[in-house]
Amino acid sequence: MQEIYDVIVVGMGASGLFALANVDKNKKALGIEAKSKVGLKLGITGGGRCNITNVKDIKNYHNYYTEPSFVRPILNAFNPNKTIEYFESRGFHLMKEGDRVLPKTEKAKDVIDFFLQQIEGKGHKIHLEEEILDFKADTDYITVKSKASSYQCKKLILAVGGASYPQTGSTGKLLKNSFDIAPFQPALSSLQINEDYFKDLHGVSLNVKIKYKKKSFENNLLFAGTMLTGYAIMDLSNYIGINEEFMLDFAPYINREELKENVQEARFSQPKKLVKTVLLECLKLPESFINVLIERSNLKGVHLADLKKKDLNKFIELLKGTSLSVQSKLPLEKAICSLGGVKIQDIDNKTMSLKSDSRICVIGEALEPVGACGGYNLQLAWSTAFACLFER
Ligand SMILES: Cc1cc2nc3c(=O)[nH]c(=O)nc-3n(C[C@H](O)[C@H](O)[C@H](O)COP(=O)(O)OP(=O)(O)OC[C@H]3O[C@@H](n4cnc5c(N)ncnc54)[C@H](O)[C@@H]3O)c2cc1C
Repeated sequence: MQEIYDVIVVGMGASGLFALANVDKNKKALGIEAKSKVGLKLGITGGGRCNITNVKDIKNYHNYYTEPSFVRPILNAFNPNKTIEYFESRGFHLMKEGDRVLPKTEKAKDVIDFFLQQIEGKGHKIHLEEEILDFKADTDYITVKSKASSYQCKKLILAVGGASYPQTGSTGKLLKNSFDIAPFQPALSSLQINEDYFKDLHGVSLNVKIKYKKKSFENNLLFAGTMLTGYAIMDLSNYIGINEEFMLDFAPYINREELKENVQEARFSQPKKLVKTVLLECLKLPESFINVLIERSNLKGVHLADLKKKDLNKFIELLKGTSLSVQSKLPLEKAICSLGGVKIQDIDNKTMSLKSDSRICVIGEALEPVGACGGYNLQLAWSTAFACLFER
């Protein structure tokens, strides 16, 4: 007779490892992973250092995700402080780098080893190189099938990830075959822009404020010609569509009036000075970037004494309100995360189970929402895994 598992977790990435590591030791549990190693994506997170979570603005944490009301109760029940407590209380030490939280050893591999130890300690097994192709729920059990085997369980946790970086195993295949999913789209992506004003800027980095509809993102932007990247751009990419416009403030720390006053003062005291020199002193932005705005506002070689009001206004407008539009995002293969997956309307956000069958849960990036850069997506992996195991 075939043995019956209490719990089967399909996918041994971040959310699946957390889930399996927290199934009670008295339950019969199995983890199944398509690849020959567990946690391939987890191993490359944070440039191999693994940004486990982020402690910024915990009260409003849900606002850093694309479906804030869906994720709010999930994150409230297992928030970043609980994540820190979870790891620390089990002897896995963490450190902070600004708002971001990383393993003290700064090695993503150690996070994987930590989970494997927890899983071994509970006596749960993992089958590697076994891709689950299908599952079927009957009245008594759920049958899970791979090419070579078939398993039966009472509870099935689908932790198969999204569809970015498919070489790490998250191909989206099982989800596409089993559900009416929200189509996968690249998220946390660099953006190719239609305008070519900044095409000669490579490697220039600024702290900017981006406005898109009612959202704003204040963070780092990195120019790579007509491709923009950095945290602010990647966060924007979770929301903006192709050919949509966004507004950039390249100097959020100074307002228009203040800047005008500074230039006017210099005009009286040092009329022979170049406008560019004064702007560089006031703004402390990279010269190559300022040169682009100076050229576009006809201020190249202009001295303060000859400064025309309309040209200064143009410069300030470009500095504080340049509008750009998105030509394309990276392909899914290169985007850090994917939007889309199992639709939130099909999931009970107390238990992560399907509304149509409470024995089947979906966790992690397999779900529709996506979070901001800097630890938010792993936090959602931990929080959804927690929610599917511990009733609230
Ligand atoms: C380069 C990079 C850096 C990142 N850095 C960070 C970071 O620092 N902080 C952060 O918060 N987020 C980061 N992320 C995002 C984060 O890694 C993911 O959001 C997170 O790993 C999702 O966890 P998951 O368990 O849902 O899916 P995954 O970690 O993708 O795991 C899914 C697992 O399921 C397996 N699987 C899929 N289908 C099947 C099947 N049919 N049968 C069996 N097994 C299957 C896959 O092989 C895989 O092992 C990064 C992502 C990338 C690509």
